[in-house]
Amino acid sequence: MHIRVLGSAAGGGFPQWNCHCENCLGVKQGTIEAKPRTQSSIAVSSNGKDWVLINASPDIRAQILGNDVLAAQDGLRGTTIRGVVLIDAQLDHTSGLLFLREGSLLPVYCTETVRRDLTVGFPLFALLKSYCGLEHHLIDLKAGECRFTVNGAEGLSMKAIALKSKAPPYSPNRENPQVGDNIALHITDKASGKSVLYAPGLGTFEPHLEPYFASSDCVLVDGTFWLEDEMIRAGVGRKYASEMGHLYLYGEGGMIEILKNFPKPRKILIHINNTNPILNERSTARNRVSDERIEVAYDGMDIKI
Ligand SMILES: [Zn+2]
Ligand SMILES: [Zn+2]
Repeated sequence: MHIRVLGSAAGGGFPQWNCHCENCLGVKQGTIEAKPRTQSSIAVSSNGKDWVLINASPDIRAQILGNDVLAAQDGLRGTTIRGVVLIDAQLDHTSGLLFLREGSLLPVYCTETVRRDLTVGFPLFALLKSYCGLEHHLIDLKAGECRFTVNGAEGLSMKAIALKSKAPPYSPNRENPQVGDNIALHITDKASGKSVLYAPGLGTFEPHLEPYFASSDCVLVDGTFWLEDEMIRAGVGRKYASEMGHLYLYGEGGMIEILKNFPKPRKILIHINNTNPILNERSTARNRVSDERIEVAYDGMDIKI
């Protein structure tokens, strides 16, 4: 299976346009060793020719142009993107759909609650009908799980796993969580049997995730915040990580500690907020992560499993 990280930052990207936190200022001024990053999205493929986008970030145009695997192979116009799977209805994961409007009918795979948010609160689906058109494929989370394939990329078997996290701030479900607001994806290459778990928004480590962490060849997991109170400490926000649907990395019960229990997979942190000290490649936090043999995703990262 081929995995291409298109965007490895959380919402806002790195640097964020209006942010002067230590990291954003440092990367803008070149005073810290850190790579700029665009907003969260990956592309996956079993054959290297037919790709599935997981999330459509507002940076999608630059991401497609910067990753030649997504360039059309033949014809005057076209794409190697066979469909888009959405893990939730957050702006930084969905607004990129608007910038695919020049294409032909757009196949989008998402749950019913996400479809509703993108029809009412942020009416992308309705809007795109007037452009390329949009073909919705339902991810039907019966019993909290569901397996599906994307048409044209049948070499990949996708399993959606319901997560307790957060619906977007604009959603009526924000304080009234529904099954389907957030999912993780367990993607298996049917030919090789290799699999990856993609979970960039993990509010807490839920027991039903354990078998996927244990058996996957690679886990691409929530690396948004180093600390539960990171935004408050940095002076750029008033919310805790958990209020935004993310589990902190460092400390008791954090993601680093959880990952220690799973020796098998290649471990990669993704969806990293611009305040997170792991972005600074010379920081203590980054060393701590490296010592645990945990990698930090960057834009253009090519993962083959
Ligand atoms: Zn996000
Ligand atoms: Zn910042």
